[in-house]
Amino acid sequence: MTIHQNLIAGEWVGADGVKNINPSNTNDVIGEYARASVEDTKAAIAAAKAAFPAWSRSGILERHAILRKTADEILARKDELGRLLSREEGKTLAEGIGETVRAGQIFDFFAGETLRLAGETLPSVRPNIGVEITREAVGVVGIITPWNFPIAIPAWKIAPALCYGNTVVFKPAELVPGCSWAIVDILHRAGLPKGVLNLVMGKGSVVGQTMLDSPDVNAITFTGSTGTGKRVAVASVEHNRKYQLEMGGKNPFVVLDDADLNVAVEAAVNSAFFSTGQRCTASSRVIVTEGIHDRFVAAVGERLKSIVVDDALKAGTHIGPVVDESQLKQDTDYIEIGQKEGAKLAFGGELLKCETPGFYLSPALFTEATNDMRISREEIFGPVAAVIRVKDYEEALAVANDTPFGLSSGIATTSLKHATHFKRNAEAGMVMVNLPTAGVDFHVPFGGRKGSSFGSREQGKYANEFYTTVKTAYTLA
Ligand code: ADP
Repeated sequence: MTIHQNLIAGEWVGADGVKNINPSNTNDVIGEYARASVEDTKAAIAAAKAAFPAWSRSGILERHAILRKTADEILARKDELGRLLSREEGKTLAEGIGETVRAGQIFDFFAGETLRLAGETLPSVRPNIGVEITREAVGVVGIITPWNFPIAIPAWKIAPALCYGNTVVFKPAELVPGCSWAIVDILHRAGLPKGVLNLVMGKGSVVGQTMLDSPDVNAITFTGSTGTGKRVAVASVEHNRKYQLEMGGKNPFVVLDDADLNVAVEAAVNSAFFSTGQRCTASSRVIVTEGIHDRFVAAVGERLKSIVVDDALKAGTHIGPVVDESQLKQDTDYIEIGQKEGAKLAFGGELLKCETPGFYLSPALFTEATNDMRISREEIFGPVAAVIRVKDYEEALAVANDTPFGLSSGIATTSLKHATHFKRNAEAGMVMVNLPTAGVDFHVPFGGRKGSSFGSREQGKYANEFYTTVKTAYTLA
């Protein structure tokens, strides 16, 4: 089997590979992917540092052409790359292709942004002096990504980093190197000068930690667990570098008595269970007012009967497997914890045997949960959700906000008054009205508050906050 190598200073390098396994069928080996060492990572950082002066001053048309070419190739290969994504991560083929299209759109968006790099000019408060405010690239950006969006998250970090003239050391998650390798290969062939983008696949404790410890990494953008996010923060403070964190969520979805029942059920089932519940914007707390509670729970139960959990690549599958064995264990541990805490496992939560050996779990819905239970407070990151019964809107809002996290928050209601109040008062970076908590556009800001996120927003033009630094220049006329 040929090894997919790391890209360091424009060369493909690395001899030892580890196997990338399909969670829908553990007999299926997708490929072998190189593992970078501490020395490889240091070489990648040095290459990015050396490439920075020229790339940060490169013409905007050069950057535009490379990002545009990348977008075109990703979109042209959406079926193939979407299939690779579903094969390595386990989300359904429709979700895999959808995510791939989104990655292409992100590269297209940032290709456009290269042509819109604007500054400001103002008169100084002193006569005959002009003031110019411009944005400059930050330097070497370290990109560390998780396994749950194998192509979209790398795209929404790599595209703006390159657009604004930074060079990159990119470390994808161990479980899903395939899509990352594919987009680096596309960018490399699209004509990136050597050293501008370096790929270092491998372990977090080796590759990631070497990036955190390097004084030559000027900024780190990270998406992953709260624990690792804290490490990124501490190391970045030590090196006085810029950093941006997207971590956990425990997103609430509120259902009020006046909700359209079908809208509420579809949005809740999508939020909690699609993409196997493995989205940081997934909702695992469904907060339901008394008047609709029993009807809502019964309707969700009915809806779950029609959900097919099976091989991600099979037509007709709605929910694929959990990503790996340890994540599956975490999910089933929480199902046990929920029952011990006194919540009622109303539906699902069973290990399933499908045609191929994989990590299959039926969507689990708890009822009679309270907001102080561990299943309501800790991120599970699987197809496990809990319904919390509340008296009225005021209590629903209070429970929705009573969490250490603050990424996304949803509500199902036909009341303009409650929808408006919720949009203003939900303590989250993103609010959804009559829509699932997950499923966001690529051209507008993404991010949260409280324990979910730190730093400026990702995506859309707001991304320039992180990937550039502001310069103010004064000139005597
Ligand atoms: P998850 O539980 O979702 O895998 P992690 O935070 O462990 O979340 O992983 C997210 C990313 O962070 C992965 O690319 C992983 O390899 C990386 N990572 C893990 N440990 C470290 C570390 N000590 N330093 C830097 N990166 C790390």
